[in-house]
Amino acid sequence: MPRQLVIVLGDQLDRRSAAFDGFDARHDGVWMAEVAGESTRVWSSKPRIAMFLAAMRHFRDRLVAEGVAVDYRQLAATAAPDEPTTLAGALERRLAAPATDPPRTLVVVEPGEHRVRQELISTAKSAGIPLEIRTDRHFFSSVEDFAEHARGRKQLRLEWFYRPLREKFGVLMDDGEPAGGEWNFDADNRGSFPKSGPGPLPAPRRFPPDAVTRGVLDLVNARFHDHPGSLDAFDWPVTPEEAREALDDFLIHRLASFGTYQDAIWTGEPWLYHSRLSAAMNLKLLDPRDVVAAAERAWREGKVPVQAAEGFIRQVLGWREYVRGVYWHFMPEYESRNFLRAELPLPAFYWSATTEMNCLRDALSQTLTHGYAHHIQRLMVTGLFAMLAGVRPQEVHRWYLAVYVDAVEWVELPNTLGMSQFADGGVMASKPYCASGAYIERMSNACRGCRFEPKQATGPDACPFTTLYWDFLARHAALLKVNPRMTMQLKNLDRKQGDEIRAIRRQADEFRAGLG
Ligand SMILES: Cc1cc2nc3c(=O)[nH]c(=O)nc-3n(C[C@H](O)[C@H](O)[C@H](O)COP(=O)(O)OP(=O)(O)OC[C@H]3O[C@@H](n4cnc5c(N)ncnc54)[C@H](O)[C@@H]3O)c2cc1C
Ligand code: SF4
Repeated sequence: MPRQLVIVLGDQLDRRSAAFDGFDARHDGVWMAEVAGESTRVWSSKPRIAMFLAAMRHFRDRLVAEGVAVDYRQLAATAAPDEPTTLAGALERRLAAPATDPPRTLVVVEPGEHRVRQELISTAKSAGIPLEIRTDRHFFSSVEDFAEHARGRKQLRLEWFYRPLREKFGVLMDDGEPAGGEWNFDADNRGSFPKSGPGPLPAPRRFPPDAVTRGVLDLVNARFHDHPGSLDAFDWPVTPEEAREALDDFLIHRLASFGTYQDAIWTGEPWLYHSRLSAAMNLKLLDPRDVVAAAERAWREGKVPVQAAEGFIRQVLGWREYVRGVYWHFMPEYESRNFLRAELPLPAFYWSATTEMNCLRDALSQTLTHGYAHHIQRLMVTGLFAMLAGVRPQEVHRWYLAVYVDAVEWVELPNTLGMSQFADGGVMASKPYCASGAYIERMSNACRGCRFEPKQATGPDACPFTTLYWDFLARHAALLKVNPRMTMQLKNLDRKQGDEIRAIRRQADEFRAGLG
């Protein structure tokens, strides 16, 4: 009888993880499973499915090469008639298999999704086998740390969580003071490119698929052929070594300009100065502590300005930890929040990128091609449009969870429901991230190639973002006027004449009806 069966989920691919504490290959084993339900529950894009399966298979091969007994359930190109379609079903099958002794204990590191945690608990309970859930050491803060931080606070804000973490871990600190004299260089992180564009950009290091990954790409193309997205450009790091190379490449070539251009958009340029490290960190190919330490080192060695290092570290040590705290603190009820009572279905063009709106077409096309869009595209293009149009936040959530290679629920849900859709009523963000086409015009070149006019709210050339923006303010004025941070925007709305508002609202209704 195996002593321990260690369950390794698709986003827990680290040999140094707590799951392997005390692991003895002579008595213990590992269980991993590819199950179709994890790709169809939300209709996942091909790049997302491939990212997880490729990284899982490489991890399995590494364990096997070390002599670890890995019980690995691998998907085939066509579904077997009796194949379990859920993780719980696959585990149940494993535990009930007459040919294999049931283990004495099951061990798993905290899953990244509430549903999976519940499924594992109930499966272990039904099988009568104790399940040990271990703390995930990949994060700087624990779920309990966040609960402690949240206790008694009326409002949660990133800044009040981020600063103590900087102090606790001595990150960018000099003699107890923040390095460079400021906690936050956000004001320096809002640059846009000149009209002539960003100039030559450093192409990120690519990782052409090896034989294992090619096998996965073939499988995904065969089995999930009707899922969105394409695999032609798949070049993500899928092993710890590749992830480390991707980190080094970012530190050398892009970190210095990361802070300045963090909020900029340029059509046809998906990466700009972003790190492309989210999937590697979320699947635990890369430890965020190493990432943060390396970014700080780059500044201390004089290779990048403090604004760049802080801007980047704030994302990893700040936002990434903060959203995880929000997720576990408010789940499971958080998922069903809909503060703005938005009920429109998600427009079909989110799955095909067939829209005349240039900014959306660009962000959606690269999402389907690479399984990637950078933060401002997610927040201020795809997310903004959905919120202004009034799309049901749960549908928006399912879309984000389906399409990105880095999508895991603990990080995706608060970003979508909270930050981008304001569906949590202000837990994540102090006000809705609402803006008109003028914002996109300022931060990108998208409007220059668009058939719409960003400044117009009515008429045949009106930019849908601008029409929907004023309509959004008018529809939600009563809810939003209690928020002091919305005063300016609502004052601007008040300056509009009744006729103008009526025309905008009529155009917004017609536009919404045409979305299908
Ligand atoms: C609607 C919406 C959905 C999102 N869904 C996801 C998701 O499923 N998975 C995911 O990892 N990120 C998500 N994000 C956050 C962010 O957009 C991505 O982490 C980032 O775009 C990944 O690209 P990058 O690695 O090049 O990041 P960079 O721009 O290079 O940033 C560096 C790192 O900081 C972290 N980070 C930055 N912003 C955030 C944030 N808001 N929350 C948490 N971590 C952050 C990421 O780990 C990222 O790799 C979402 C944001 C929005 C607005
Ligand atoms: S005009 Fe409007 S729809 Fe067109 S790119 Fe600009 S913001 Fe997007």
